[in-house]
Amino acid sequence: MADYPNTLLLIDNEWREAKGGARIDVVNPATGQKIGQVAHAKREDLDLALAAAQRGFETWRDTSAHERCAVMRRAAALLRERADSVARLLTQEQGKPLAEARGEVLAGAEIIDWFANEALRVYGRIVPSRNPLAQQLVIKEPVGPVAAFTPWNFPVNQVVRKLGAALATGCSFLVKAPEETPASPAALLNCFVDAGIPKGVLGLVFGSPAEISSYLIPHPVIRKVTFTGSTPVGKELAALAGLHMKRVTMELGGHAPVIVAEDADVELAVKASGGAKFRNAGQVCISPTRFLVHKSIKAAFEQAFVAHAEKLKLGDGLTEGTTLGPLANDRRLLAMDKIVKNASEKGARIATGGARIGGAGNFFAPTILTDVPLDADIFNEEPFGPIAAIRSFETLDEAIREANRLPFGLSAYGFTKSIKTVHELSRRLEVGMLWVNQPATPSAELPFGGVKDSGYGSEGGPEALEAYLVTKAVSVVGV
Ligand code: NAD
Repeated sequence: MADYPNTLLLIDNEWREAKGGARIDVVNPATGQKIGQVAHAKREDLDLALAAAQRGFETWRDTSAHERCAVMRRAAALLRERADSVARLLTQEQGKPLAEARGEVLAGAEIIDWFANEALRVYGRIVPSRNPLAQQLVIKEPVGPVAAFTPWNFPVNQVVRKLGAALATGCSFLVKAPEETPASPAALLNCFVDAGIPKGVLGLVFGSPAEISSYLIPHPVIRKVTFTGSTPVGKELAALAGLHMKRVTMELGGHAPVIVAEDADVELAVKASGGAKFRNAGQVCISPTRFLVHKSIKAAFEQAFVAHAEKLKLGDGLTEGTTLGPLANDRRLLAMDKIVKNASEKGARIATGGARIGGAGNFFAPTILTDVPLDADIFNEEPFGPIAAIRSFETLDEAIREANRLPFGLSAYGFTKSIKTVHELSRRLEVGMLWVNQPATPSAELPFGGVKDSGYGSEGGPEALEAYLVTKAVSVVGV
Protein backbone atom coordinates (compact mmCIF):
# COMPACT_ATOMS: atom_id res chain seq x y z
CA MET A 1 0.00 0.00 0.00
CA ALA A 2 1.50 3.26 -1.12
CA ASP A 3 0.15 5.25 1.83
CA TYR A 4 1.32 2.89 4.58
CA PRO A 5 4.64 4.03 6.13
CA ASN A 6 7.32 2.13 8.01
CA THR A 7 7.17 3.01 11.70
CA LEU A 8 10.13 4.16 13.76
CA LEU A 9 10.77 4.58 17.49
CA LEU A 10 10.03 7.94 19.13
CA ILE A 11 12.75 9.04 21.57
CA ASP A 12 13.28 12.68 22.62
CA ASN A 13 10.81 13.83 19.93
CA GLU A 14 12.91 12.22 17.19
CA TRP A 15 11.73 9.37 15.01
CA ARG A 16 14.60 6.87 14.97
CA GLU A 17 15.52 3.48 13.61
CA ALA A 18 16.38 0.91 16.28
CA LYS A 19 20.10 0.56 17.02
CA GLY A 20 21.34 -2.15 14.70
CA GLY A 21 18.41 -1.51 12.35
CA ALA A 22 16.24 -4.52 13.33
CA ARG A 23 12.65 -4.43 12.04
CA ILE A 24 9.45 -6.50 12.20
CA ASP A 25 7.01 -6.95 9.29
CA VAL A 26 3.50 -5.53 9.40
CA VAL A 27 0.74 -7.46 7.61
CA ASN A 28 -2.67 -6.31 6.37
CA PRO A 29 -5.15 -8.80 7.93
CA ALA A 30 -7.60 -8.33 5.05
CA THR A 31 -5.11 -9.54 2.44
CA GLY A 32 -2.36 -11.39 4.32
CA GLN A 33 0.13 -9.16 2.49
CA LYS A 34 3.10 -7.44 4.10
CA ILE A 35 2.47 -3.69 3.99
CA GLY A 36 5.40 -2.27 5.93
CA GLN A 37 7.80 -2.67 8.81
CA VAL A 38 8.29 -1.42 12.34
CA ALA A 39 11.57 -0.79 14.16
CA HIS A 40 12.43 -3.44 16.78
CA ALA A 41 13.94 -1.82 19.89
CA LYS A 42 16.88 -3.38 21.67
CA ARG A 43 18.19 -2.76 25.20
CA GLU A 44 20.25 0.22 24.00
CA ASP A 45 17.14 1.90 22.56
CA LEU A 46 15.24 1.27 25.79
CA ASP A 47 18.04 2.87 27.81
CA LEU A 48 17.84 5.98 25.62
CA ALA A 49 14.05 6.02 25.93
CA LEU A 50 14.21 5.66 29.74
CA ALA A 51 16.75 8.47 30.12
CA ALA A 52 14.56 10.67 27.90
CA ALA A 53 11.47 9.78 29.98
CA GLN A 54 13.26 10.82 33.19
CA ARG A 55 14.28 14.18 31.68
CA GLY A 56 10.82 14.59 30.16
CA PHE A 57 9.22 13.99 33.56
CA GLU A 58 11.34 16.65 35.23
CA THR A 59 10.22 19.16 32.58
CA TRP A 60 6.56 18.17 32.41
CA ARG A 61 5.83 17.97 36.16
CA ASP A 62 7.09 21.57 36.42
CA THR A 63 5.00 22.72 33.45
CA SER A 64 1.81 24.45 34.58
CA ALA A 65 -1.43 22.52 34.31
CA HIS A 66 -2.70 25.28 31.98
CA GLU A 67 0.22 24.76 29.61
CA ARG A 68 -0.17 20.96 29.72
CA CYS A 69 -3.85 21.40 28.93
CA ALA A 70 -3.04 23.70 26.00
CA VAL A 71 -0.52 21.27 24.45
CA MET A 72 -2.93 18.36 24.81
CA ARG A 73 -5.77 20.32 23.23
CA ARG A 74 -3.56 21.31 20.29
CA ALA A 75 -2.68 17.62 19.82
CA ALA A 76 -6.37 16.67 19.93
CA ALA A 77 -7.13 19.30 17.28
CA LEU A 78 -4.36 17.91 15.04
CA LEU A 79 -5.66 14.38 15.53
CA ARG A 80 -9.12 15.54 14.44
CA GLU A 81 -7.64 17.26 11.37
CA ARG A 82 -5.76 14.07 10.49
CA ALA A 83 -8.59 11.67 11.32
CA ASP A 84 -9.05 10.43 7.76
CA SER A 85 -5.41 9.56 7.19
CA VAL A 86 -4.91 8.02 10.64
CA ALA A 87 -8.07 5.94 10.16
CA ARG A 88 -6.75 4.60 6.84
CA LEU A 89 -3.55 3.46 8.55
CA LEU A 90 -5.55 1.86 11.32
CA THR A 91 -7.81 -0.07 8.95
CA GLN A 92 -4.91 -1.31 6.86
CA GLU A 93 -2.98 -2.67 9.84
CA GLN A 94 -5.85 -3.77 12.08
CA GLY A 95 -8.71 -4.62 9.71
CA LYS A 96 -11.74 -2.81 11.20
CA PRO A 97 -14.09 -1.01 8.81
CA LEU A 98 -12.95 2.51 7.94
CA ALA A 99 -15.99 4.10 9.60
CA GLU A 100 -15.14 2.31 12.88
CA ALA A 101 -11.49 3.36 12.55
CA ARG A 102 -12.51 6.98 11.99
CA GLY A 103 -14.86 6.75 14.97
CA GLU A 104 -11.99 5.45 17.10
CA VAL A 105 -9.72 8.33 16.10
CA LEU A 106 -12.37 11.00 16.68
CA ALA A 107 -13.29 9.46 20.03
CA GLY A 108 -9.55 9.55 20.82
CA ALA A 109 -9.45 13.30 20.18
CA GLU A 110 -12.44 13.78 22.47
CA ILE A 111 -10.84 11.73 25.25
CA ILE A 112 -7.62 13.75 25.01
CA ASP A 113 -9.63 16.98 25.29
CA TRP A 114 -11.48 15.67 28.33
CA PHE A 115 -8.27 14.70 30.13
CA ALA A 116 -6.65 17.99 29.09
CA ASN A 117 -9.43 19.88 30.84
CA GLU A 118 -9.21 17.63 33.89
CA ALA A 119 -5.55 18.67 34.22
CA LEU A 120 -6.92 21.98 35.51
CA ARG A 121 -8.92 20.24 38.23
CA VAL A 122 -6.30 18.14 39.99
CA TYR A 123 -6.92 19.68 43.38
CA GLY A 124 -5.40 18.97 46.77
CA ARG A 125 -7.13 19.99 50.00
CA ILE A 126 -6.58 21.78 53.27
CA VAL A 127 -7.29 19.75 56.41
CA PRO A 128 -8.22 21.57 59.65
CA SER A 129 -5.32 21.23 62.06
CA ARG A 130 -5.38 20.38 65.76
CA ASN A 131 -2.72 23.08 66.19
CA PRO A 132 -4.15 26.51 65.39
CA LEU A 133 -0.72 27.66 64.20
CA ALA A 134 -0.33 24.81 61.70
CA GLN A 135 -1.66 24.53 58.20
CA GLN A 136 -2.16 21.02 56.88
CA LEU A 137 -2.07 20.55 53.12
CA VAL A 138 -2.78 17.51 51.02
CA ILE A 139 -0.96 17.78 47.70
CA LYS A 140 -1.39 15.65 44.59
CA GLU A 141 1.73 15.04 42.52
CA PRO A 142 2.43 13.04 39.36
CA VAL A 143 3.68 9.55 40.18
CA GLY A 144 6.59 9.74 37.69
CA PRO A 145 7.57 8.19 34.34
CA VAL A 146 4.99 5.64 33.19
CA ALA A 147 5.56 2.42 31.23
CA ALA A 148 2.47 1.52 29.20
CA PHE A 149 1.73 -1.64 27.22
CA THR A 150 -1.16 -1.44 24.78
CA PRO A 151 -2.79 -4.03 22.49
CA TRP A 152 -3.78 -4.19 18.85
CA ASN A 153 -7.59 -4.15 19.07
CA PHE A 154 -7.88 -0.36 19.46
CA PRO A 155 -4.39 0.76 18.42
CA VAL A 156 -5.17 4.46 18.93
CA ASN A 157 -7.60 4.48 21.82
CA GLN A 158 -5.82 2.01 24.05
CA VAL A 159 -2.90 4.47 24.01
CA VAL A 160 -5.15 7.53 24.35
CA ARG A 161 -6.85 6.40 27.58
CA LYS A 162 -3.51 5.85 29.31
CA LEU A 163 -1.66 8.78 27.80
CA GLY A 164 -4.51 11.24 28.46
CA ALA A 165 -4.50 10.64 32.20
CA ALA A 166 -0.69 10.42 32.44
CA LEU A 167 -0.04 13.67 30.57
CA ALA A 168 -2.82 15.55 32.34
CA THR A 169 -1.31 14.77 35.73
CA GLY A 170 2.27 15.67 34.73
CA CYS A 171 3.78 12.21 34.14
CA SER A 172 6.05 11.34 31.24
CA PHE A 173 4.83 8.38 29.22
CA LEU A 174 6.78 5.62 27.50
CA VAL A 175 4.56 3.22 25.59
CA LYS A 176 5.24 -0.12 23.98
CA ALA A 177 2.49 -0.10 21.42
CA PRO A 178 1.46 -3.17 19.38
CA GLU A 179 3.91 -4.44 16.78
CA GLU A 180 0.99 -5.68 14.61
CA THR A 181 -0.58 -2.21 14.40
CA PRO A 182 2.22 0.36 14.85
CA ALA A 183 1.51 3.15 12.34
CA SER A 184 -1.72 4.55 13.79
CA PRO A 185 -0.36 4.90 17.36
CA ALA A 186 2.76 6.51 15.86
CA ALA A 187 0.53 8.97 13.98
CA LEU A 188 -1.25 9.72 17.26
CA LEU A 189 2.00 10.48 19.07
CA ASN A 190 3.17 12.60 16.16
CA CYS A 191 0.21 14.93 16.81
CA PHE A 192 1.70 15.63 20.26
CA VAL A 193 5.17 16.22 18.80
CA ASP A 194 3.67 18.67 16.30
CA ALA A 195 1.64 20.28 19.07
CA GLY A 196 4.89 21.18 20.86
CA ILE A 197 5.13 18.64 23.69
CA PRO A 198 8.57 18.99 25.31
CA LYS A 199 11.23 16.40 24.48
CA GLY A 200 11.17 13.18 26.45
CA VAL A 201 7.59 13.55 27.72
CA LEU A 202 6.43 10.95 25.21
CA GLY A 203 8.29 7.86 24.02
CA LEU A 204 7.20 5.06 21.72
CA VAL A 205 8.91 1.70 21.33
CA PHE A 206 8.15 -1.62 19.68
CA GLY A 207 9.94 -4.96 19.84
CA SER A 208 9.64 -8.19 21.78
CA PRO A 209 6.84 -7.54 24.34
CA ALA A 210 8.29 -9.82 27.02
CA GLU A 211 11.83 -8.45 26.61
CA ILE A 212 10.60 -4.86 26.85
CA SER A 213 8.25 -5.35 29.81
CA SER A 214 10.79 -7.37 31.81
CA TYR A 215 13.31 -4.54 31.37
CA LEU A 216 11.05 -1.51 31.83
CA ILE A 217 8.90 -2.64 34.76
CA PRO A 218 11.74 -3.20 37.26
CA HIS A 219 13.76 -0.22 35.97
CA PRO A 220 14.17 2.47 38.66
CA VAL A 221 13.11 5.28 36.27
CA ILE A 222 9.65 3.74 35.84
CA ARG A 223 7.21 4.52 38.66
CA LYS A 224 3.93 3.32 37.24
CA VAL A 225 2.88 0.42 34.98
CA THR A 226 -0.30 0.24 32.95
CA PHE A 227 -1.25 -2.71 30.77
CA THR A 228 -4.19 -3.70 28.61
CA GLY A 229 -4.31 -7.25 27.28
CA SER A 230 -5.01 -10.82 28.34
CA THR A 231 -5.45 -11.92 31.94
CA PRO A 232 -2.51 -14.38 31.99
CA VAL A 233 -0.04 -11.73 30.73
CA GLY A 234 -1.59 -9.13 33.06
CA LYS A 235 -1.03 -11.37 36.07
CA GLU A 236 2.62 -11.87 35.12
CA LEU A 237 3.23 -8.15 34.68
CA ALA A 238 1.33 -7.25 37.88
CA ALA A 239 3.43 -9.79 39.81
CA LEU A 240 6.64 -8.29 38.43
CA ALA A 241 5.44 -4.78 39.24
CA GLY A 242 4.54 -5.93 42.76
CA LEU A 243 8.02 -7.28 43.28
CA HIS A 244 9.40 -3.83 42.49
CA MET A 245 6.65 -1.90 44.33
CA LYS A 246 5.39 -0.14 41.20
CA ARG A 247 1.91 1.33 40.94
CA VAL A 248 -0.25 -0.67 38.49
CA THR A 249 -3.40 -0.40 36.39
CA MET A 250 -4.56 -3.61 34.70
CA GLU A 251 -7.31 -3.66 32.08
CA LEU A 252 -7.66 -7.36 31.22
CA GLY A 253 -9.94 -9.89 29.61
CA GLY A 254 -13.70 -10.05 29.95
CA HIS A 255 -16.53 -12.46 29.17
CA ALA A 256 -19.57 -10.21 29.18
CA PRO A 257 -22.93 -11.76 30.05
CA VAL A 258 -26.04 -10.34 28.39
CA ILE A 259 -29.18 -10.94 30.42
CA VAL A 260 -32.31 -10.63 28.28
CA ALA A 261 -35.18 -10.73 30.77
CA GLU A 262 -38.70 -12.00 30.14
CA ASP A 263 -40.05 -8.46 29.69
CA ALA A 264 -37.19 -7.21 27.42
CA ASP A 265 -37.75 -5.35 24.17
CA VAL A 266 -36.36 -8.11 21.93
CA GLU A 267 -35.80 -5.86 18.92
CA LEU A 268 -33.79 -3.41 21.04
CA ALA A 269 -31.86 -6.23 22.71
CA VAL A 270 -30.82 -7.65 19.34
CA LYS A 271 -29.92 -4.30 17.82
CA ALA A 272 -27.93 -3.10 20.84
CA SER A 273 -26.17 -6.30 21.82
CA GLY A 274 -25.74 -7.46 18.22
CA GLY A 275 -24.09 -4.14 17.34
CA ALA A 276 -21.82 -4.47 20.38
CA LYS A 277 -21.01 -8.13 19.65
CA PHE A 278 -19.77 -7.66 16.10
CA ARG A 279 -18.08 -4.28 16.53
CA ASN A 280 -14.37 -4.65 15.73
CA ALA A 281 -15.18 -8.30 14.84
CA GLY A 282 -15.74 -9.03 18.53
CA GLN A 283 -12.15 -8.19 19.45
CA VAL A 284 -13.23 -5.98 22.31
CA CYS A 285 -12.74 -6.67 26.02
CA ILE A 286 -16.33 -5.57 26.76
CA SER A 287 -17.81 -7.52 23.84
CA PRO A 288 -21.01 -9.37 24.78
CA THR A 289 -20.40 -13.14 24.77
CA ARG A 290 -22.73 -15.15 27.01
CA PHE A 291 -26.29 -14.41 25.93
CA LEU A 292 -28.64 -15.53 28.70
CA VAL A 293 -32.16 -15.24 27.33
CA HIS A 294 -35.40 -15.93 29.18
CA LYS A 295 -36.85 -19.18 27.85
CA SER A 296 -40.17 -17.51 26.87
CA ILE A 297 -38.46 -15.24 24.30
CA LYS A 298 -35.43 -17.32 23.36
CA ALA A 299 -36.76 -18.48 19.98
CA ALA A 300 -37.75 -14.94 18.95
CA PHE A 301 -34.45 -13.50 20.15
CA GLU A 302 -32.42 -16.15 18.36
CA GLN A 303 -34.25 -15.70 15.07
CA ALA A 304 -33.80 -11.91 15.13
CA PHE A 305 -30.15 -12.20 16.21
CA VAL A 306 -29.36 -14.59 13.34
CA ALA A 307 -31.04 -12.19 10.89
CA HIS A 308 -28.93 -9.35 12.33
CA ALA A 309 -25.69 -11.34 11.93
CA GLU A 310 -26.52 -12.45 8.41
CA LYS A 311 -27.03 -8.85 7.29
CA LEU A 312 -23.46 -7.89 8.16
CA LYS A 313 -21.22 -7.21 5.18
CA LEU A 314 -17.90 -8.98 5.64
CA GLY A 315 -14.96 -7.55 3.73
CA ASP A 316 -11.85 -5.41 3.54
CA GLY A 317 -12.35 -2.49 5.92
CA LEU A 318 -11.28 -0.05 3.21
CA THR A 319 -14.14 -1.16 0.95
CA GLU A 320 -17.20 1.06 1.15
CA GLY A 321 -20.12 -0.66 2.85
CA THR A 322 -18.08 -3.19 4.86
CA THR A 323 -19.57 -3.61 8.33
CA LEU A 324 -17.42 -6.51 9.56
CA GLY A 325 -13.70 -6.67 8.88
CA PRO A 326 -11.21 -9.52 9.19
CA LEU A 327 -9.75 -10.69 12.48
CA ALA A 328 -6.64 -8.74 13.32
CA ASN A 329 -4.24 -11.68 13.20
CA ASP A 330 -4.23 -15.36 12.29
CA ARG A 331 -4.00 -16.41 15.97
CA ARG A 332 -7.62 -15.31 16.31
CA LEU A 333 -8.71 -17.38 13.27
CA LEU A 334 -7.25 -20.52 14.82
CA ALA A 335 -8.91 -19.67 18.13
CA MET A 336 -12.34 -19.24 16.43
CA ASP A 337 -12.06 -22.63 14.68
CA LYS A 338 -11.20 -24.30 17.96
CA ILE A 339 -14.11 -22.66 19.81
CA VAL A 340 -16.68 -23.71 17.20
CA LYS A 341 -15.35 -27.27 16.99
CA ASN A 342 -15.37 -27.62 20.78
CA ALA A 343 -18.93 -26.23 21.10
CA SER A 344 -20.24 -28.57 18.38
CA GLU A 345 -18.61 -31.56 20.00
CA LYS A 346 -20.25 -30.63 23.31
CA GLY A 347 -23.67 -30.51 21.64
CA ALA A 348 -24.22 -26.82 20.79
CA ARG A 349 -26.03 -25.92 17.57
CA ILE A 350 -24.51 -23.51 15.04
CA ALA A 351 -27.38 -21.11 14.29
CA THR A 352 -25.31 -19.18 11.75
CA GLY A 353 -21.70 -18.89 10.60
CA GLY A 354 -19.15 -21.17 12.20
CA ALA A 355 -16.36 -21.09 9.64
CA ARG A 356 -13.61 -19.12 8.02
CA ILE A 357 -14.53 -17.37 4.79
CA GLY A 358 -12.19 -17.25 1.78
CA GLY A 359 -8.55 -18.29 1.57
CA ALA A 360 -6.76 -14.93 1.89
CA GLY A 361 -7.24 -12.61 4.84
CA ASN A 362 -8.48 -13.49 8.32
CA PHE A 363 -12.22 -13.53 7.59
CA PHE A 364 -14.49 -15.46 9.93
CA ALA A 365 -18.27 -15.51 9.52
CA PRO A 366 -20.32 -13.85 12.27
CA THR A 367 -21.27 -16.86 14.35
CA ILE A 368 -24.11 -17.63 16.73
CA LEU A 369 -24.00 -20.80 18.78
CA THR A 370 -27.11 -21.81 20.66
CA ASP A 371 -28.15 -24.29 23.36
CA VAL A 372 -24.53 -24.16 24.41
CA PRO A 373 -23.60 -26.40 27.35
CA LEU A 374 -21.97 -24.67 30.28
CA ASP A 375 -18.79 -26.70 29.91
CA ALA A 376 -18.16 -25.63 26.30
CA ASP A 377 -15.04 -23.45 25.96
CA ILE A 378 -17.07 -20.53 24.59
CA PHE A 379 -18.94 -20.32 27.90
CA ASN A 380 -15.70 -20.17 29.87
CA GLU A 381 -12.91 -18.58 27.84
CA GLU A 382 -12.89 -15.15 26.23
CA PRO A 383 -13.48 -15.71 22.48
CA PHE A 384 -12.19 -12.29 21.37
CA GLY A 385 -13.85 -12.75 18.01
CA PRO A 386 -17.24 -12.65 16.25
CA ILE A 387 -18.86 -15.52 18.16
CA ALA A 388 -21.93 -15.25 20.40
CA ALA A 389 -23.25 -18.09 22.55
CA ILE A 390 -26.87 -18.40 23.69
CA ARG A 391 -28.47 -20.25 26.59
CA SER A 392 -31.92 -19.90 28.06
CA PHE A 393 -32.80 -19.33 31.73
CA GLU A 394 -35.93 -19.59 33.83
CA THR A 395 -35.33 -17.32 36.82
CA LEU A 396 -33.40 -14.08 37.12
CA ASP A 397 -31.54 -15.56 40.05
CA GLU A 398 -30.27 -18.37 37.80
CA ALA A 399 -29.11 -15.86 35.15
CA ILE A 400 -27.27 -13.71 37.71
CA ARG A 401 -25.54 -16.74 39.20
CA GLU A 402 -24.38 -17.78 35.74
CA ALA A 403 -23.21 -14.23 34.97
CA ASN A 404 -21.08 -14.25 38.14
CA ARG A 405 -19.79 -17.81 37.70
CA LEU A 406 -16.65 -16.91 35.76
CA PRO A 407 -13.56 -15.28 37.23
CA PHE A 408 -13.95 -12.34 34.80
CA GLY A 409 -15.80 -9.19 35.88
CA LEU A 410 -15.47 -6.48 33.26
CA SER A 411 -18.75 -5.64 31.54
CA ALA A 412 -22.34 -6.89 31.56
CA TYR A 413 -25.49 -6.01 29.64
CA GLY A 414 -29.12 -6.20 30.75
CA PHE A 415 -32.36 -5.81 28.82
CA THR A 416 -35.57 -5.35 30.77
CA LYS A 417 -38.45 -2.92 31.31
CA SER A 418 -38.60 -3.64 35.03
CA ILE A 419 -36.95 -1.26 37.47
CA LYS A 420 -36.86 -4.08 40.00
CA THR A 421 -34.80 -6.21 37.60
CA VAL A 422 -32.49 -3.25 36.88
CA HIS A 423 -31.86 -2.86 40.62
CA GLU A 424 -31.17 -6.58 41.00
CA LEU A 425 -28.69 -6.51 38.12
CA SER A 426 -26.90 -3.41 39.29
CA ARG A 427 -26.68 -4.66 42.87
CA ARG A 428 -25.68 -8.25 42.23
CA LEU A 429 -23.60 -8.42 39.05
CA GLU A 430 -19.87 -8.66 39.79
CA VAL A 431 -18.62 -6.34 37.05
CA GLY A 432 -16.96 -2.97 36.61
CA MET A 433 -19.49 -1.77 34.02
CA LEU A 434 -23.18 -2.51 33.44
CA TRP A 435 -25.10 -1.33 30.37
CA VAL A 436 -28.88 -1.52 30.58
CA ASN A 437 -31.08 -1.41 27.45
CA GLN A 438 -28.20 -0.12 25.33
CA PRO A 439 -24.89 -1.07 23.76
CA ALA A 440 -21.76 -0.10 25.68
CA THR A 441 -21.06 3.61 25.44
CA PRO A 442 -17.82 4.13 27.32
CA SER A 443 -16.85 7.78 27.48
CA ALA A 444 -13.88 9.63 28.94
CA GLU A 445 -15.89 10.82 31.94
CA LEU A 446 -17.17 7.37 32.94
CA PRO A 447 -14.92 4.93 34.85
CA PHE A 448 -13.72 2.08 32.65
CA GLY A 449 -12.28 -1.00 34.33
CA GLY A 450 -12.98 -4.39 35.82
CA VAL A 451 -13.02 -6.49 38.96
CA LYS A 452 -11.85 -10.05 39.69
CA ASP A 453 -9.60 -11.45 36.93
CA SER A 454 -10.50 -8.54 34.65
CA GLY A 455 -8.01 -6.40 36.52
CA TYR A 456 -7.98 -3.30 38.69
CA GLY A 457 -7.87 0.43 38.30
CA SER A 458 -9.93 2.56 36.00
CA GLU A 459 -9.28 4.28 32.70
CA GLY A 460 -12.04 6.86 32.74
CA GLY A 461 -13.45 9.53 35.02
CA PRO A 462 -11.55 11.18 37.88
CA GLU A 463 -10.42 7.68 38.98
CA ALA A 464 -8.27 7.50 35.84
CA LEU A 465 -6.27 10.55 36.92
CA GLU A 466 -6.00 9.31 40.49
CA ALA A 467 -4.08 6.29 39.16
CA TYR A 468 -1.24 8.59 38.03
CA LEU A 469 -1.10 10.70 41.19
CA VAL A 470 0.61 10.29 44.52
CA THR A 471 -0.57 12.03 47.66
CA LYS A 472 1.70 14.08 49.89
CA ALA A 473 0.72 15.48 53.28
CA VAL A 474 2.47 18.70 54.28
CA SER A 475 2.00 20.21 57.72
CA VAL A 476 3.43 23.70 58.22
CA VAL A 477 3.83 25.67 61.42
CA GLY A 478 4.66 29.29 60.78
CA VAL A 479 7.74 30.65 62.68
P1 NAD B 1 -1.31 -12.22 24.19
O1 NAD B 1 -1.87 -12.60 25.49
O2 NAD B 1 -0.02 -12.80 23.76
O3 NAD B 1 -1.11 -10.63 24.09
C1 NAD B 1 -2.06 -9.70 24.50
C2 NAD B 1 -1.36 -8.34 24.49
O4 NAD B 1 -0.33 -8.35 25.47
C3 NAD B 1 -0.64 -8.02 23.18
O5 NAD B 1 -0.79 -6.65 22.93
C4 NAD B 1 0.82 -8.37 23.44
O6 NAD B 1 1.71 -7.56 22.71
C5 NAD B 1 0.96 -8.08 24.89
N1 NAD B 1 1.92 -8.92 25.58
C6 NAD B 1 2.03 -10.26 25.51
N2 NAD B 1 3.02 -10.70 26.31
C7 NAD B 1 3.55 -9.60 26.89
C8 NAD B 1 4.59 -9.38 27.82
N3 NAD B 1 5.29 -10.40 28.37
N4 NAD B 1 4.86 -8.11 28.18
C9 NAD B 1 4.17 -7.06 27.69
N5 NAD B 1 3.17 -7.20 26.82
C10 NAD B 1 2.85 -8.46 26.43
O7 NAD B 1 -2.39 -12.56 23.14
P2 NAD B 1 -2.85 -12.03 21.73
O8 NAD B 1 -2.90 -13.21 20.82
O9 NAD B 1 -2.15 -10.81 21.25
O10 NAD B 1 -4.31 -11.65 22.13
C11 NAD B 1 -5.16 -12.69 22.58
C12 NAD B 1 -5.85 -12.41 23.85
O11 NAD B 1 -5.44 -11.22 24.48
C13 NAD B 1 -7.31 -12.22 23.59
O12 NAD B 1 -7.97 -13.46 23.63
C14 NAD B 1 -7.76 -11.33 24.67
O13 NAD B 1 -8.14 -12.10 25.78
C15 NAD B 1 -6.55 -10.57 25.07
N6 NAD B 1 -6.58 -9.17 24.64
C16 NAD B 1 -7.29 -8.32 25.40
C17 NAD B 1 -7.37 -6.99 25.03
C18 NAD B 1 -8.17 -6.03 25.86
O14 NAD B 1 -8.60 -5.02 25.34
N7 NAD B 1 -8.34 -6.29 27.16
C19 NAD B 1 -6.75 -6.55 23.88
C20 NAD B 1 -6.00 -7.45 23.11
C21 NAD B 1 -5.92 -8.78 23.53
